[in-house]
Amino acid sequence: MGRGPTNNYYQLLNEDYIKGTLTCLRPSTIKRVVNTDFPNILNIEPTNACNLKCFYCPRERANKKVGFIDWNLYTRIIDEASHYNKLIMLNLHKDGEPFLHPRFMDMIRYAKKMQVAKTIHVNTNALCWTNDTIDELLDSGIDDITVSLDAARPETYKKHKGADLLERVEKQVLNFFKRRAKLALKQPFLRVKIMEFEGISKEEIEEFIDKWKDTADMVQVTGIHNWCGAIESLKISDETSSMRYPCAIMWYALAVNWNGEVTFCTVDWNTETKVGDVNKQTLHQIWNSHEVKETRRSHLEQKYDKCPPCKNCVAWVPFGDLTDWLLQRKEFYL
Ligand code: SF4
Ligand code: SF4
Repeated sequence: MGRGPTNNYYQLLNEDYIKGTLTCLRPSTIKRVVNTDFPNILNIEPTNACNLKCFYCPRERANKKVGFIDWNLYTRIIDEASHYNKLIMLNLHKDGEPFLHPRFMDMIRYAKKMQVAKTIHVNTNALCWTNDTIDELLDSGIDDITVSLDAARPETYKKHKGADLLERVEKQVLNFFKRRAKLALKQPFLRVKIMEFEGISKEEIEEFIDKWKDTADMVQVTGIHNWCGAIESLKISDETSSMRYPCAIMWYALAVNWNGEVTFCTVDWNTETKVGDVNKQTLHQIWNSHEVKETRRSHLEQKYDKCPPCKNCVAWVPFGDLTDWLLQRKEFYL
């Protein structure tokens, strides 16, 4: 049978990431990999266009225009990443639905050809998948896919995402597993995701787990955050902490928007802390820029308000307090 990822892949996920996350590296990994050449996790946004209207998504309120990354800009970023060879994870998503980019499959293939990262990952709503898309995807070289289903019941999907399309998406995800098995492939890995928060019942979460546990490679249940307070009606169900400490993401990640503007992370949905622009700078230059060092230093000095998206964010919680170690690495903030 071709179903199921390799044991090595599970091992890789367990070794590098804090359990249940794909953005938070373990402190032991952080201490091993951070460097001043290039980030270890990079998000590239193919597009911020989307075919859904999830009520918990601030995308449509952003100042950024809707657009698609230019192919030459994309390949320049990949070439640079490949040159430095530091990426553990290339995430081909930020805001929006990546599969809407007309050259999305080419983007995956190019990144794979350039051996740009240990893992190439995409987060998708899978709404525009067809059998042809699935076949191309299976052949593309992508390593890891997260499908945000976020519901077990059609009425929940419709209520939260503005379209009565759960059954259609589920059918395509099942098709993915059937076709992967038929081709006797071990990868890509595919996890289905649901968010646990007050808008969904515990029974529905259980239904979701039961529905997918024997089919998907992983069933992921995450918390929800409110995009730095942008969705006021949403009560955060992500892990929180009464103690504040620096966000270690700034020591290993960057995110490139489709228009070339660079932020530290995907939480910064409205590019409030722009640290560079790949139309004018290399990522290596940005990684060592005054803006990046200054923002890291503001966290080390506990001036969290200096970076607006960080003010009400909770994504820093899982790392724990690494201040002492981060302070020792002066080249990252002086
Ligand atoms: S599918 Fe993703 S990008 Fe699209 S509206 Fe929902 S959360 Fe936002
Ligand atoms: S604390 Fe700041 S850098 Fe860290 S995840 Fe939140 S918004 Fe991003």
